[in-house]
Amino acid sequence: MSPRRRISLSLRKRLAEAAGYACNYCRSPSLAGVPLAVDHIVPLAAGGTDHPANLCLACYRCNEFKGAQTTGMDSLTSAVTPLFHPNQQNWSDHFAWSQDSLTIVPLTAVGRVTVEMLRMNDGWLLQARRIWRLAGIHPPLS
Ligand SMILES: [Zn+2]
Repeated sequence: MSPRRRISLSLRKRLAEAAGYACNYCRSPSLAGVPLAVDHIVPLAAGGTDHPANLCLACYRCNEFKGAQTTGMDSLTSAVTPLFHPNQQNWSDHFAWSQDSLTIVPLTAVGRVTVEMLRMNDGWLLQARRIWRLAGIHPPLS
């Protein structure tokens, strides 16, 4: 890892506090013993930087599925659409929880593309959300 890619502990802590200790995309809580990953919203390979405005915390799933992508094809319109930008957009403008709080309902094209590309409603997450709901830690308050 090059020094350029190292994110200080204090910045990581600020990002975690800002995100409420949850993934900025799927809102999964950070409590499974696996730390959230620092996500470059615009990947370094696409010209993104280590500036805090380009950083957020994401669960490993979202970080891996997102990879170096910043756009996707909207399944409804076939339009190339940007992925959700956690630092420039509000989660609740693009997503909502289903009534049973197990599924993330996309509200916009950005939401649709992000839910699909990051697989934010696959079976693994639905099962985890059922358990988190029983434990009283889901859905997240923010
Ligand atoms: Zn996530």
